[in-house]
Amino acid sequence: MSEPILTLEQVTKTFGENTVLDGINLTVHQGEVIVIVGPSGCGKSTLLRCINALEPIQGGQISLDGEKIDQKSKSLVALRQKIGMVFQSYELFPHLTVLENIMLAPTIVQNRKKEEVREEALALLGRVGLIGKENSYPRQLSGGQKQRVAIVRALCMHPEILLFDEVTAALDPEMVREVLDVMLNLASQGRTMMIVTHEMQFARAVADRIIFLDSGKVLEDTSPELFFEKPKTERARQFLNMFE
Ligand code: ADP
Ligand code: MG
Repeated sequence: MSEPILTLEQVTKTFGENTVLDGINLTVHQGEVIVIVGPSGCGKSTLLRCINALEPIQGGQISLDGEKIDQKSKSLVALRQKIGMVFQSYELFPHLTVLENIMLAPTIVQNRKKEEVREEALALLGRVGLIGKENSYPRQLSGGQKQRVAIVRALCMHPEILLFDEVTAALDPEMVREVLDVMLNLASQGRTMMIVTHEMQFARAVADRIIFLDSGKVLEDTSPELFFEKPKTERARQFLNMFE
């Protein structure tokens, strides 16, 4: 297999007395789609936030392209640009149009030419079914549309890896599918992705590997077939029973 893009070695994260990530080891290769599942509060969001250096870690090491991710690192701005993150709550700027939201970071942070970024943004909006929405404001869009804008905004930064944290959890059921379809499409294009989701059918369809996290530990790191057919741990069996 190719060189890993992202490695986590013995990563430990604590909030006061609370050990949220307890010696996490994980490797992500180019083009892999990793789905992280586990009970509420087990540390899934914290894991993604540590990878993006939104949270400092107390032990271990996270590396992207062989470079250590460290909140104090001078190259943090450059490293962060390699990581695209999409949240449950969109985080779009309400006072900017769809196009302005998407173009902001590529033109300001990456200093790219406006015309080039605009063209790319419009093409990507077309690919996610949002032609004609470029001049709308977030409040004029449905939840599913906002989430697709947030995905385009992440893509427009040309990240090496995309992190998705329960991006359909706040959506009405009829909008979940349109967002999952965009993610399935990205996976089929060979994008490297880490996805936190409670959509188990989607997880099984999209994942190359499933990580089952419980109490801050990786209890399973396996193929979707094995995870859903023959989970190794009792905890994973209990977890999967909740979805039946
Ligand atoms: P998940 O995403 O799997 O539901 P989280 O990563 O959000 O879980 O949270 C894991 C644990 O870390 C929980 O016990 C939560 O209360 C705690 N936690 C998360 N963020 C903070 C924070 N900023 N300060 C203190 N505790 C936190
Ligand atoms: Mg979470």
